[in-house]
Amino acid sequence: MSTCTYISRSKRRYPERICKNKNCNHGKRYIPTDFRQEYCCPSCGEDAGNDRRRELNNSTFQHEKQLRLIDKKLSVLFNKYEINGYCQLQKNLLQHEVIDISLGVQQGINTLTKQKVNWLYEYGTEQHPENKDWIIIHKKPK
Ligand SMILES: [Zn+2]
Repeated sequence: MSTCTYISRSKRRYPERICKNKNCNHGKRYIPTDFRQEYCCPSCGEDAGNDRRRELNNSTFQHEKQLRLIDKKLSVLFNKYEINGYCQLQKNLLQHEVIDISLGVQQGINTLTKQKVNWLYEYGTEQHPENKDWIIIHKKPK
C-alpha cells in the first residue's frame, strides 16, 4: 500500500519550471518531479551551490582587503600626527583620506575614557571625548 503511494507520488508531474542554476546548460526548462525541486538535475544544484560559495568567499575577501587598507591608512596618519604615542586629529582629515571609521573587526573600551574603540588590526579609532570633530587613533600595544 505504502509502496503504491510512493510510486504514484514519484510519477507526479508539476508544471514546467526554469532551472535556478544561472549557468544551466541543460536547456533551462524542466518538469519537476518534486514540488521542492529548484534545479533541473543534481549537477545543476551542485554548480549553483559552488557558485554561491565562491561569491561569498570573494566578498569576504574584498571586505578584509578594505579593512586592511583602512588599517594601513590609520597607521600612516598615526605616524604623522602622533606625539608621545598619543594621536588625535580632525575628522575631516579622515574624510579626506577616505577612511570609513565605522568599519572595524573588533570593538573595545578605552578604560580611561570608558568610550568605545573601533579596532581594525593594528589600529583603532575613538571619538574624542571633548571635541566631536576630532578622533583619537590608537595603536595596539605589542
Ligand atoms: Zn539546470
